[in-house]
Amino acid sequence: MTDCIFCKIIAGEIPGDIIYQDDDVLAFRDLNPQAPTHALVIPKKHISTINDIQSDDAELVGKMFLAAQKIAKDDGIAEPGYRTVMNCNSGAGQTVFHIHLHVLGGRAMSWPPG
Ligand code: 5GP
Ligand code: ZN
Repeated sequence: MTDCIFCKIIAGEIPGDIIYQDDDVLAFRDLNPQAPTHALVIPKKHISTINDIQSDDAELVGKMFLAAQKIAKDDGIAEPGYRTVMNCNSGAGQTVFHIHLHVLGGRAMSWPPG
């Protein structure tokens, strides 16, 4: 996807504060952090929204959570805990249309989210 900002980060065309990557996923710090830890975990394959995930992608999506778990451990927020969020479409606040798992922690989290 040539016009996708996250594909450009994957390609190294724009900088990202990369904290984890493997063959399938990439994670980097959010440009506008909403918590002391705010990372984004993305698949290296372009998928626009949750609605576009196919059954073949099930393992890939699972790997996104394994990356989130590792980031939380590395940042020391696995205990007391952290939040993962994936917004789907603009009605839920999605602004970048390449799926991404927000990993937020290091402060108290309220519920329900706004
Ligand atoms: P969404 O609103 O789609 O769930 O989340 C998009 C997130 O991407 C936002 O938290 C926003 O701050 C972050 N973001 C947008 N553009 C960039 C960028 O170029 N680099 C980084 N690191 N984060 C970005
Ligand atoms: Zn993309």
